[in-house]
Amino acid sequence: MQTQVQKIVIVGGGTAGWMTAAMLKKILANAVNIELVESEAIGIIGVGEATIPPIRLFNNVLGINEAEFIKATKASIKLAIKFENWRTEGESYFHTFGAPGKSMAFCPFHHFWLKEQAINKKDIWQYDLNYLCAINGQFDKLKTQNPFYDIPYAYHFDAALYGQFLRSYAEAWGVKRTEGIIDNVIQNSESGYIESVQLQSGDIISGDLFIDCSGAKGLLIHQTLNTGYEDWSHWLPCDRAVAVASERFSKSALYTRSIAHYAGWQWQIPLQHRNGNGLVYSSRHISDEQAVDLLLNNLGSDSLSEPKLVKFRTGRTRKQWNRNVIAIGLSSGFLEPLESTSIYLIQSAIVRLLNLFPNQGIDNRQRNEYNQQSEIEYSHIRDFIILHYIQNERNNNKFWHEMQQVELPERLQHKMELFKKQGVLVQEQYDIFLDSSWLQVMVGQGITPQSYHPLANNIKQQELSSMLENIRLSKLKPLEQMPSHDNFLNTLMQSI
Ligand SMILES: Cc1cc2nc3c(=O)[nH]c(=O)nc-3n(C[C@H](O)[C@H](O)[C@H](O)COP(=O)(O)OP(=O)(O)OC[C@H]3O[C@@H](n4cnc5c(N)ncnc54)[C@H](O)[C@@H]3O)c2cc1C
Repeated sequence: MQTQVQKIVIVGGGTAGWMTAAMLKKILANAVNIELVESEAIGIIGVGEATIPPIRLFNNVLGINEAEFIKATKASIKLAIKFENWRTEGESYFHTFGAPGKSMAFCPFHHFWLKEQAINKKDIWQYDLNYLCAINGQFDKLKTQNPFYDIPYAYHFDAALYGQFLRSYAEAWGVKRTEGIIDNVIQNSESGYIESVQLQSGDIISGDLFIDCSGAKGLLIHQTLNTGYEDWSHWLPCDRAVAVASERFSKSALYTRSIAHYAGWQWQIPLQHRNGNGLVYSSRHISDEQAVDLLLNNLGSDSLSEPKLVKFRTGRTRKQWNRNVIAIGLSSGFLEPLESTSIYLIQSAIVRLLNLFPNQGIDNRQRNEYNQQSEIEYSHIRDFIILHYIQNERNNNKFWHEMQQVELPERLQHKMELFKKQGVLVQEQYDIFLDSSWLQVMVGQGITPQSYHPLANNIKQQELSSMLENIRLSKLKPLEQMPSHDNFLNTLMQSI
């Protein structure tokens, strides 16, 4: 349809807009001109504080100094999420970024652990360095290359500050920023491609490729191209969130807290200067006023802001690349922040776009491939989130009872059955969550495999017990030298 892409217009300057601008400019450099349009009057969503480990790769590729980033975004280290009351009230478990135990030839560690369970009921997290650091409040970057001692980590940060931090890089590399409200979008009458956007001032900004980072409304992808939305609220019925900042605790936790309540769940995220809190809930089961009360009564410290209400509809934009528009960020869909995946999905969309970049002009082949990969990726995350809800034993209230009855996506049902029967985990293409994540959430939600891999029987019980005990003690060893999380952050920030 078109010849080469020479000018990219990014609509929106939230986290999605500035992540996209910075990375495209860094990689494509002078091969393209990039202009970003945003409106301070409209503003950004201003929530979103928890990430997963790939964010570090994103920052590394941009050449960002970690200490500067942590200082600028008021970040803390995140090693895990603690799920409280999800299976039953009073019980909790961790989903860490680590992998329990050690890698074993032909037979994953958890089969040995399952066998050991018959005589020794140590939970699987006792063999996970991320967990041990998280519960002890200690962290360091170990200098060993031994993967046994890997501590995969991500950050809690202020996403609005992160956007501004990236803006300074993007502008320094040559991204042009234009302030103004877009009130008209001009399409080619034959192809439907977008040719330009018009600001209230009358200025017209033309481009070859448009990235829609305008937030949930999707100014280009929905309001102009009417792309359509796949609604997943029959699987994930929570449709609102209320967010509020509160005083920080004296020590910063190394994990996000996710606390199940009677009609949804609460997040608590430690930043350097405050805690971020929110309640995700189903408006069919609880009113907005009840949700605000529930959240404010469970902060654990004084609130610092007015509660902010956000409405959403879980699902995804049917074609995330339609004509010459690619939706990135909230315009591409929404999955509740239970596993901190939205900022990751921005990153992944940018990488996908770079892989399939239409430098010879846009055609259906790239678009279809892009859309197919996005759909698969979104579906895997959706299924992983559903798993937390449906596998609950909270029988004493309506919301959780209804979640037990939800008809499962076929692939999720299959994965759960495989694990239930003989502890088998399936790693799928484009699934950001590795076996160790599925393992922890399945075990945490109470799925116990009926059997384990026969290879675990090749080792005598006594040898197995001592092997597991050695692994556990070895994982504890690094903690003897580790500073507290807050000391780690302070030392790092003093280094610049
Ligand atoms: C309750 C909640 C909690 C969340 N928690 C997490 C989390 O813990 N972890 C995580 O990874 N993600 C989280 N997210 C998601 C995360 O907040 C978003 O993915 C991220 O902030 C990206 O938003 P965005 O840039 O797409 O949209 P926005 O921040 O809404 O930005 C939209 C931009 O478009 C501009 N714009 C819109 N219309 C116009 C116009 N007409 N003219 C000019 N400019 C325009 C606006 O000015 C703004 O700059 C959460 C989301 C919600 C709702």
